[in-house]
Amino acid sequence: MLKFNKKFSPQYGEVTEVSPLIRRLVAHNPSPFTFYGTGTYIVGKGGGANCESGGAHVAQRAIDHPSNMKKRANHKEESAPNRSPVRTETRATARPSQCEESLSAAPATEAKPKKPTVAIIDPGPAISSHLHALEKFLEHVTVSHILVTHNHVDHSPAAAPLKQITGAEVYAFDTGQQADMDNHAEEGRDRHFKPDHILKDGDVIKGDGWTLAAVHTPGHLSNHLCFALREEKALFTGDHVMGWSTSVVSQPDGDMKDYIASLEKLLTRDDRIYYPTHGGPVNDPKPFVRALIAHRHNREQQILAAIADGAVTIPAMVAVIYADIPTYLHPAAASSVLSHLIHMAHDRRITCQGKMGKDGVFGVI
Ligand SMILES: [Zn+2]
Repeated sequence: MLKFNKKFSPQYGEVTEVSPLIRRLVAHNPSPFTFYGTGTYIVGKGGGANCESGGAHVAQRAIDHPSNMKKRANHKEESAPNRSPVRTETRATARPSQCEESLSAAPATEAKPKKPTVAIIDPGPAISSHLHALEKFLEHVTVSHILVTHNHVDHSPAAAPLKQITGAEVYAFDTGQQADMDNHAEEGRDRHFKPDHILKDGDVIKGDGWTLAAVHTPGHLSNHLCFALREEKALFTGDHVMGWSTSVVSQPDGDMKDYIASLEKLLTRDDRIYYPTHGGPVNDPKPFVRALIAHRHNREQQILAAIADGAVTIPAMVAVIYADIPTYLHPAAASSVLSHLIHMAHDRRITCQGKMGKDGVFGVI
């Protein structure tokens, strides 16, 4: 049985500590698709009122930013946990660039304090209140990587301004293979998004006391990545798995077959907790993932039953299957039904007369 957890009360404009290595700032962009808004995660210790110690170091393979590596050349690697209060009201005594320059100019042997290094996951929408709050908090840390789970408009647009503010580069899966997609509501694609570095499944990024591995999870979008934080056995699940709702799987770039396979992929892992981009964490995640898979299989049974009962078009199926949800959500429901139908036609469980879409007439094989 699929049970959602809708308990979540974000403090907009304030960075909240959610685990020893993870903090979150929720953007004020609530909607039926974003729940209370986009949760931007900050991974790594440190931050607060002052420039703290904890120098950056380098990613595996070629996925670190060369200029960052150069900047860090004089930084001695060390681990210096910091438990400064996590509030955005605090003010820095120096801008990040000023702090960085003064550290770089110092002799390597001199033990000067260094700002801790963090990664940002899903910078969010480019709304001024969110960017302003992020900028204030990031005055006290060095951002080494900006990671994006996928390029929907509630996840990626702040990547470019955040790069300008911090100098960190942007990492995501390749967007070059995406099917064309019309924008709709908050789930529209960010067509301007261009990562500086392409991540593949299994790529690993390291910082001070944290290790993030990319987990390719296509379905919601073809370029969707989750990020696994090894030190806490935590998985940042983006929009792939959320505790408050099922995910939208919309054509043409969403793919139900891929989505279900990406859910099954999570069952092969041993993550302890999920942190979705929207809403609160998912504890004990495997039973929840199994319930999501069962929910999709049940939906397909409902579609087959609806067709058998004479609801042979998508609008007719939506009217029957989604009778209990508000009609303004029916376009998204129709999109999800279409994704199921494409998957079921591919598996030769149904037939379609006419074009696959709202005008198609479906039959059960
Ligand atoms: Zn999304």
